[in-house]
Amino acid sequence: MNPHPAGQIDLNVPIEAGAVQRGLQHKYRQTVLFFPAQGQTCHAYCTYCFRWAQFVGLEDLKFAAREAETLVEYLRNHPEVTDVLFTGGDPLVMRTSVLRRYVEPLLRADLPNLAHIRFGTKALAYWPARFLTDPDADDLLRLFGEIQAAGKHVAVMAHYSHPRELATPAAVAALQRVRDSGAVVRCQAPLVRRVNDDPAVWADLWRAQVRLGAVPYYMFIERDTGPKEYFKVPLARAADLSRRLPPAVGAVSQRPRPVDVGDARQDPGRRRDGDRGQAVLRAADAPGPQPRVGRPHLPRRVRPRRGLDQRAAPGLRRARLLLRRRARRARPTTRPGPSEHAGRDPPTAA
Ligand code: SF4
Repeated sequence: MNPHPAGQIDLNVPIEAGAVQRGLQHKYRQTVLFFPAQGQTCHAYCTYCFRWAQFVGLEDLKFAAREAETLVEYLRNHPEVTDVLFTGGDPLVMRTSVLRRYVEPLLRADLPNLAHIRFGTKALAYWPARFLTDPDADDLLRLFGEIQAAGKHVAVMAHYSHPRELATPAAVAALQRVRDSGAVVRCQAPLVRRVNDDPAVWADLWRAQVRLGAVPYYMFIERDTGPKEYFKVPLARAADLSRRLPPAVGAVSQRPRPVDVGDARQDPGRRRDGDRGQAVLRAADAPGPQPRVGRPHLPRRVRPRRGLDQRAAPGLRRARLLLRRRARRARPTTRPGPSEHAGRDPPTAA
C-alpha cells in the first residue's frame, strides 16, 4: 500500500536541533505543511485518498503535531518560508477553539516572513454547515478576519472534484460566507478516473468556481499509494487531457496546471514522442536550492506489484524502518545543528 510514497518521511520531515518534526513537512521551499493532531480525520474518506495513512489508527505512520511552538520556532529558523498550510486529514474538522490554539501563536509571534496561512479542506463541499450553522461557524469566520487583521493572507484550499459539489444552495452559501470573511477560496482536486477524467467536467467545475468568485488552482495527479487502481489516470493520458482543457475559464481565470506527481510539483506538459508514449515532466517547485525547477525529466516507471497482502506488509515495514533510521541520524552526537532540509536534493517523481 506504500503509505508514504516518494520518500515523504525520509525527505520531507525536517530535523531541527536533532529532533524529528513529525507534525511538519517542508517539501516546497516557501511552504511548510502543518498537521495538527486533532485535524487528522476527514469529512470525506475518499477511497483514493493519498493521506489514508493518517486515518488508519497506526500512530507511527501518522504526521501529527500537538502544539504550535515547534512550528513557530521552525518559521523563525527558516526565513525562506512564507506559507503555512494546515492540512491533514482536514484541519476544519477541529472546533474553532482548538484551531485557534494553533493559529494564534503564529499571529503573536511576529514572524515577518510568514505571509500566507492556508487551510486545506473538504468542508466546503461535504460539510458546508461548518461555515453556516455549526455553533462555532461564526467564530471560524472571525478567526479568518483576525488572521487578515494581523497582516496575513488567508486562503481556504477547497477540494471540489466535481461540479455537483457546488450545486446545492448550502454549498453556494458556505462559499459566499468564506469569501465575505475576506479569505480567498482556491480550488483543487485530484484527477480521478470515472469521476472527473473528462475535460468537459473540469471546464464545468472551473466555470462554476469562477462564477462564485473562487479561484481554480490545482489539478492533482494521483500518487503511488493506497487502493488507487480503480481511480488512477496514467500520466500520458493526464497530459493529453490537460491539452484538451479550455485555455481559460471565462475572462478572469487562466487554466490551472496539473501538478503534484509524487512529491515534487510537476507539470506534465507534453508527451514524449516515441514508442513508449511517456509523459515528460517539469518540476514547478522543489525544496531547498532549486536547480531542478523547470528542467524536463522523465518520470520513474512504477512496476506493477503483486498481491495486496504482499504489498501492505513491506510498505509498513519500510515506513517503520525509515522512521528508526531518521531518529538514529537525528541524534545530536552524530548530526548536530539546524535542519538538514536546506541542502537536500529534491525528490524525483513517483
Ligand atoms: S477529502 Fe482529501 S484528505 Fe479527505 S479523504 Fe478525501 S482526499 Fe483524503
